[in-house]
Amino acid sequence: MLGSIVGTTKILGVMGFPVSHSLSPVMHNAAIAALGLDYVYVPFPIAVEDLPMAIAGLKAVRSLQGFNLTIPHKVEVIPLLDEILPIAKAVGAVNTVKRVGDRWVGTNTDVAGFLEPLKQLKCDWSQMPAIILGSGGAAKAVVAACLELGCPMIHVVGRDPKKLKKFHGTMTSQLHDYNLRVHPWASIPHLLEVAGIVVNATPIGMSNDPNTPISEAEIALLPSQAIAYDLIYTPRPTKFLQMAAARGLMAIDGLEMLINQGAIALEFWLDQPVPIEIMRRSLIKQLS
Ligand code: NAP
Repeated sequence: MLGSIVGTTKILGVMGFPVSHSLSPVMHNAAIAALGLDYVYVPFPIAVEDLPMAIAGLKAVRSLQGFNLTIPHKVEVIPLLDEILPIAKAVGAVNTVKRVGDRWVGTNTDVAGFLEPLKQLKCDWSQMPAIILGSGGAAKAVVAACLELGCPMIHVVGRDPKKLKKFHGTMTSQLHDYNLRVHPWASIPHLLEVAGIVVNATPIGMSNDPNTPISEAEIALLPSQAIAYDLIYTPRPTKFLQMAAARGLMAIDGLEMLINQGAIALEFWLDQPVPIEIMRRSLIKQLS
């Protein structure tokens, strides 16, 4: 249970629109309660057109120590902040902001959150090309993460040639990476044959969507040591991951990314270790 909210209570939160679906309040408030801190984490529904006013105006709320950003604010917030840390500059997206004195400092914890479940694995990443399905906001963090892992090639697959071209231009200039290629959806079978890791960074298969980003026949093309990673965490597992596991492939869902990006953000705000197991348990309970 959260402690009572009193005159000294400090505030953290998440800005999005809509934001009612966000699971962040659940896991952050569970951690705050376990740590016995005089904090509360709340959702802030802020429409796109109101973001500049919110970022400027909330600076006056001295008890607001920091906030997360979710869709649709991760990119648009950048010019509104006082400082952007290098990882967020490289990705071109901010998901976490901290008050430092009277300045808003932005960072990105999605990259480290994505990497966390992969760090446990003993893989020779230099032999593992990455295939990323989708070229939206999350795909940017996945590209930066695959670069950090040392994947020899990063292939991003999308359905809109104009968006793909823009994605390639932005990411190569931000990351100075020339082993990034973009491909139309039709190239998938050819790419899968050499994949070390294939990441679903689209919403295909989420909630009640019965579709999969790649078919069972395409999953059969993957090398036997390939890893299937789906950023989606509802349902757990997705049909894509069920098919990959049935083929004997390692399958990772988006829950660990969600937990770890949250835990790293909370550590950034509090400057102290946080109870990640309690955050994990609270999310699993909420999702079930
Ligand atoms: P986004 O910015 O909206 O990007 C979605 C991407 O998927 C776009 O490239 C979009 O293509 C593509 N796409 C959507 N429907 C498609 C379809 N039917 N066929 C082919 N491509 C399709 O969303 P995002 O923020 O990147 O999020 C992507 C997924 O990752 C979501 O499921 C989200 O829940 C998940 N996610 C999970 C975490 C986590 O912590 N686990 C964190 C962030 C995101 P167009 O541009 O052509 O529309």
